[in-house]
Amino acid sequence: RLQQRIHGTTLEINLNALTHNYNFYKKQLSPKTKVMVMVKAFAYGGGAVEIANQIQTMGADYLGVAFSDEGIALRKQGIKLPIMVLNAMQESFGLCSEFDLEPVVFSPEFFESLASWCLIHQKKMRIHLDMDTGMHRLGFEKKQLELLKGLIQSNPQLEIASIYTHLVGADEEIHREFSLSQLKSFEGMKNEVLDILSYHPLIHALNSAGIVAFPEFQFSMVRLGIGLYGVEVTGKHELALRAISTLKTTISQVKELEAGETVGYSRKGVLPAGGTIATLALGYADGYDRRFSNGKGYVLIQGQKAAVIGNVCMDMCMVDVSGMDVKAGDEAIVYGEKISLKELADQIGTIPYELLTNISTRVKRVYY
Ligand code: PLP
Repeated sequence: RLQQRIHGTTLEINLNALTHNYNFYKKQLSPKTKVMVMVKAFAYGGGAVEIANQIQTMGADYLGVAFSDEGIALRKQGIKLPIMVLNAMQESFGLCSEFDLEPVVFSPEFFESLASWCLIHQKKMRIHLDMDTGMHRLGFEKKQLELLKGLIQSNPQLEIASIYTHLVGADEEIHREFSLSQLKSFEGMKNEVLDILSYHPLIHALNSAGIVAFPEFQFSMVRLGIGLYGVEVTGKHELALRAISTLKTTISQVKELEAGETVGYSRKGVLPAGGTIATLALGYADGYDRRFSNGKGYVLIQGQKAAVIGNVCMDMCMVDVSGMDVKAGDEAIVYGEKISLKELADQIGTIPYELLTNISTRVKRVYY
């Protein structure tokens, strides 16, 4: 509460809820299946180092980040788990080697470039092979497998730590058939690579939704993201998860408005009959999306819904508190246990992932 009074807006992270969600997913899996936790994008907004520390003590096996910088930040804070980097830039190979990060290799050109870097610098590196089975983002295509196998055989300085693919719509029932075709084609592709290896890399395909929808394809590891952070995207086990983050802000001022007066920039908020508004210490620079303007968003004050009125400003926004007994210093809950991220995201046509990762670094994270 003190942190909130000082900083205005805080993101409270419940580490017990994180453990609860982790255990939920562990229960869906065979005991020997390993878990990589995706802590990219500041651990989906939750704070990469604190979350990674908790994950390390919970006994997860791997961490996943998007860029080398994210991995370096974790290493500098003493995180010891192996770290896979989804999209390491070629200029960061030296840093990957120095900080013991394991890049994803997704094309023959990338493979060659990393292999020759390792030869020149006399280094070995553990790498992860991304197979494109339909996402068409990064990854080897089926027709490149012969080339890939040749490269693996002639470059023992690169050890294959894992082979994986990514599903395009594991959370959507309408894409079930497509997901299954991706998984089948992945089986064929990874078997071709395994045939030429004398060791056993990890194999993985499932994200949070995939764990729920396709447990028979868990292979030797899964990659857990959004579910750990409390959002069950398939809708099948929504109640089994706990919200880990609560975004709270503070009322800075309360004003009475006359009939017809307007609120905020461009006079977009109108109170035809007059009423009471509260100004919150939360704006789009904190990651509160401007699309929540004018009734699209709401907060909970003393358990009651207060709708956003007018345009969301950079550091503040106003809510309609007509008929409510509120004062400056009172707390408003933006999301958490009682306001679901999915519901909020739907309001503005986005997904919970975007809401979580948009919370800016100036919002103080508080762990309990
Ligand atoms: N694996 C990869 C390659 C990803 O890019 C992501 C997230 O975007 C994940 C796993 C985790 O997905 P989710 O957060 O849906 O569990």
